[in-house]
Amino acid sequence: MKQELIQCALTHGRRFVRYGKPASYIPELASKDPSKLGIAVCDMEGNVITAGDCKEKFSMQSISKVMALILALEQNGFDNVFSKVGMEPTGDAFNSMVRLDHLINNKPFNPMINAGAIAVTSTIRGATLEERKEACLACARKLTGNPDLGVDYEVFLSESETGFRNRAIIYLMRSNGIIEGNCEEHLELYFLMCALACNCRDLAFFAATLANNGVSPMTGERLIQPRVVRLVRSLMVTCGMYDYSGEFAATVGMPSKSGVGGGIISCAIGKYGIATYGPSLDDKGNSIGGLKMLEYLSDNMGLSIF
Ligand code: GLU
Repeated sequence: MKQELIQCALTHGRRFVRYGKPASYIPELASKDPSKLGIAVCDMEGNVITAGDCKEKFSMQSISKVMALILALEQNGFDNVFSKVGMEPTGDAFNSMVRLDHLINNKPFNPMINAGAIAVTSTIRGATLEERKEACLACARKLTGNPDLGVDYEVFLSESETGFRNRAIIYLMRSNGIIEGNCEEHLELYFLMCALACNCRDLAFFAATLANNGVSPMTGERLIQPRVVRLVRSLMVTCGMYDYSGEFAATVGMPSKSGVGGGIISCAIGKYGIATYGPSLDDKGNSIGGLKMLEYLSDNMGLSIF
């Protein structure tokens, strides 16, 4: 991919950022500058090109749901993890509870919505909470190729203090037998993953590893098993962009995951890992500038898998 092309994508995306606003239900995110927009693209040789505010740090939020799923599958296997969560899209908002109490087996729909990700996170193992946190951090550092990746504790605290809806979700699942053990500890782990601080480059490496069937384009090392990559990418297609996943599949057509911190990762399979950042969100929680840049690149380079 050429530098000029991502520069054009950025110019295109910038026209739209004024139509959204940063997430405010996590107080710390509300103060982010909505005019920021950046992009990084990593090819299958590990070369990275960037444009705009690509060095800006932001919290992964729901993008970490992909990492939590990879770690949980690695630790516990498919049967164990999918005894707690399904694989179906919902069409509801990411933090919705409406159908959580009406399901036949009480399982949340999929690992990309809050309820599903919390259920997945509850299976992440370790003798203590500290050990579980270390396992999550080690996994995120491995998948981004960034040994210094850390947590934005202000975002973490901000969400821990105000995450009432996620508390309601986990305790409902506890009473329905989906969650075992200490709910507050599971939530702490979930909030910690959401508050992982990254930039576009970190996430472009992660997306490129997914695009490269689980092999790091930087080191050539296999980081994710092929079966896990296939499953994760298919859930990203069907459930990765909140209740916009269907339209996104039609307009962009790449396995992607977005977070309310303003990030989006996108996989052009066998070609590129793309990460965008722009905290101005639409009413579904997707970065407006990010969506527009991905649309532009998909159109101009024929990146849709469909
Ligand atoms: N930490 C956020 C929450 O649980 C993540 C949501 C998101 O990025 O979609 O509400």
